[in-house]
Amino acid sequence: MQRIGVFVCHCGSNISATVDVVRVAESLKNEQNVVFSADCRYMCSENGQSLIKNTVKEYGLTGIVICSCSPRMHENTFRKTAGEAGINPYMVEIANIREQCSWIHKNAAEATEKAVILGRAAVAKLNRDFPLTEGESSVTKRALVIGGGIAGIQTALDIADAGYKVDIVEKKPTIGGKMAQLDKTFPTLDCAACILTPKMVDAAQHENITLYTYSQVTNVEGYVGNFRVTIKKKARYVNETLCSGCGECTLKCPSKKGKNEFNMGLNNRSAIYIPFAQAIPNVPVIDTEQCIKFNTGKCGLCQMTCQAKAVDFSMKDEYITENYGAIVAATGFDIISLDKFGEFGYQMYDDVVTSLEYERLMNAAGPTGGHLVRPSDGKEPKTVVFVQCVGSRDIRECGKEYCSKICCMYTAKHAMLTREKYPDTEVYVFYIDVRTPGKGFDEFYRRAAEQYGVRYIKGMVGKVYDDGEGNIMVRASDLIAGEQLTIKADMVVLAAATEPDKTARTLGTMLTASMDTNDFFTEAHPKLRPVESPTAGVFLSGFCQGPKDIPETVAQAGAAAVKVVGLLSKDSLKSNPCTAISDPVICSGCGACKNVCPFGAVELAEKTVLTERGRETRLVSVVNDAVCKGCGACTVACPSGCMDLKGFTSSQIFGEVDALCR
Ligand code: SF4
Ligand code: SF4
Ligand code: SF4
Repeated sequence: MQRIGVFVCHCGSNISATVDVVRVAESLKNEQNVVFSADCRYMCSENGQSLIKNTVKEYGLTGIVICSCSPRMHENTFRKTAGEAGINPYMVEIANIREQCSWIHKNAAEATEKAVILGRAAVAKLNRDFPLTEGESSVTKRALVIGGGIAGIQTALDIADAGYKVDIVEKKPTIGGKMAQLDKTFPTLDCAACILTPKMVDAAQHENITLYTYSQVTNVEGYVGNFRVTIKKKARYVNETLCSGCGECTLKCPSKKGKNEFNMGLNNRSAIYIPFAQAIPNVPVIDTEQCIKFNTGKCGLCQMTCQAKAVDFSMKDEYITENYGAIVAATGFDIISLDKFGEFGYQMYDDVVTSLEYERLMNAAGPTGGHLVRPSDGKEPKTVVFVQCVGSRDIRECGKEYCSKICCMYTAKHAMLTREKYPDTEVYVFYIDVRTPGKGFDEFYRRAAEQYGVRYIKGMVGKVYDDGEGNIMVRASDLIAGEQLTIKADMVVLAAATEPDKTARTLGTMLTASMDTNDFFTEAHPKLRPVESPTAGVFLSGFCQGPKDIPETVAQAGAAAVKVVGLLSKDSLKSNPCTAISDPVICSGCGACKNVCPFGAVELAEKTVLTERGRETRLVSVVNDAVCKGCGACTVACPSGCMDLKGFTSSQIFGEVDALCR
């Protein structure tokens, strides 16, 4: 038989100002198996906890009910106290008489009555509770970082520096990501390559880091501390170990019509190519669509040229399986397709470019050597019009509802650098709002407008068109002057909205990590757990969680690394005992539970069960306790009523409901 103690907290005056706590304690004395009931000013204080411990001893309690604040606040405190007093920590129930009662009611009599009812329900549940024991699982001391941009590199470096092995999987032939394509970075205008490439080299040379470039994660199994991941390493057709990176093959290759992805397709590259000069690894890759040998069986010049005998046309994709304790998603971003934005003429006019294309045109290592010229005729533009928010903060179907966050600043940078290098060039920026919330950001924007003479116009661009004489015309509104403008432009630069990398959704599904409707990974808590996914052991770094600039990305990468190190430093993990459990005798094996489980915790497996027809071997649901989060989705989905949740069984919940309705 249970012996229950009830403790009613005043919470200073937070509860007692509205609820008559003495009366609540008195009323609950009459509930089933309650042998002690009292009030206390602060239950979470040392005095409150001593009261619990002493009472447990004195009255031989088997369980306790605390009528106090939300369990989110102090459930762990009271479970720990119960454990120290010798009671199973799961024989603790909390009646939330603060957030759900005193804070939301004004009438003291009604609030007191409600507090009594909530306390009664907690006692009823405790009468049906049973002790639960946390499980334990081991931790593989190796981390996986998916994505080799600045977010992934920084996360990996921080984990590796803490002494743990970490693998980076990058889908492109080189690490570096978008930052490698940038010229200068706002607001300090440091050279992006100068600050990024040392980090790329550090990552490549770190004894604790293994790079898998030109690779993708194809399967993830397991759970926190024990993930098993399959990585597809695509064939480069160049042996990384033998290649010296001399680049001779790329010069000899006669097929020169591949679009140079690194330069945003603004020039061409050979079929065998190194993405950019500082690529890591500095090893070429063959684009089989462009390669003559792969298409006709002839050529092979690269192989003949290569002194190191590194070119190998017989190379095959490889699959590697590795175990990890933690996984970090750092898949980065892309810019949206502008197919649905015909009004800006991106598809029609060569001189309408995206900001990332403009970035490459301004970059000394870009297709024009940093000389800003129009893609159409190679002449310097005399008027450049920047258009912000192309697809961002767009409530129409074609764009994104969110702010891309980085466009205001990089547009200010492009506009400023254009005026600095080409003072005769007229520069206009059309904006909805200029958003500059960052250290030194507003000062930077004002410098562009005030010192560099960039003409900021609040207004929308309605149309970009050809005037029939080969000139690009920009029609826009000036909302402050209240007039329509038409500007003859030599170039138009579109700040296209950002979006998560295309691989994010597939990866999210493999990781059973939550994602929002825009395909950004969802954090476990937006304020308190911003770098953790709700899926245990999965962490988030950089743009894949939401738009952010480089300083924010690096800060988040460090934070994710700290969380990973915290996890890997443990030898074993305690698991939540409030997990689902199925009754194999009733289970029909329909799989409804498996289909709804958002964490992949349920499997169907063959089991021998004793039924009224005798022994039968059949498919039944089996829950992996280490993976189950206790969300309860499966218990609702099961049509046979055979799934239950330990700590929240149907019997316990019905007990509470009965007490509430009494
Ligand atoms: Fe270029 Fe292919 Fe010929 Fe090599 S075999 S040189 S990659 S076209
Ligand atoms: Fe999956 Fe939630 Fe059921 Fe656990 S309780 S098996 S996490 S659906
Ligand atoms: Fe068994 Fe219920 Fe799952 Fe169906 S939904 S497999 S009956 S536990």
